[in-house]
Amino acid sequence: MAEQKVLNAVTALCRLTARGDLAEPDILQDAGRIMADLVTTDDWLPDAMAQPHPEYYRQYLLYGDPLDRFSLVSFVWGPGQRTPVHDHTVWGVIAMLRGAEVEQSFSMEDDRLQAIGEEKTLRPGEVAFVSPSIGDIHRVSNYHDDKVSISIHLYGGNIGRINRHVFDPETGRRKPFVSGYSNVLVPNLWAPGV
Ligand code: FE
Repeated sequence: MAEQKVLNAVTALCRLTARGDLAEPDILQDAGRIMADLVTTDDWLPDAMAQPHPEYYRQYLLYGDPLDRFSLVSFVWGPGQRTPVHDHTVWGVIAMLRGAEVEQSFSMEDDRLQAIGEEKTLRPGEVAFVSPSIGDIHRVSNYHDDKVSISIHLYGGNIGRINRHVFDPETGRRKPFVSGYSNVLVPNLWAPGV
């Protein structure tokens, strides 16, 4: 059953985040492996969590750990959609499921945003990482102007509730934001009616 795949990933992530004895690089390595495994096939994401919105990218909560140790989110990009420049304040793993996305990383220097390196394209099966310790500011876009792309994101906290920031790319000025989730009435995959 396709749902078993995401259940297996959630079980592995529960075990990983419950350990408490691992440094962040080790957590990211293991979490990266679990997430890469999750996106080896694109046959498990329920349609309800793959729906784009005509105007905004969507963030569907697939699973939220009751102790807020991690959250698993389906990011659905409509054609041409992109995020503002933003940070996360916790570690994150991005695993590409369908289509492709483009990431530009930034650093903050002297209150100015500096682009780091070239844009990177993430393709199905590939994973990328963010965290305050390895680089936490980026802007992400759908690679495609004519179709939906979907990536599965894992964060080391309840990302929909975390206080974080968006940045003005010209001035570097930052504004607080809390992203929430697009499916507030459907808290996880196992809620009735999903
Ligand atoms: Fe991000």
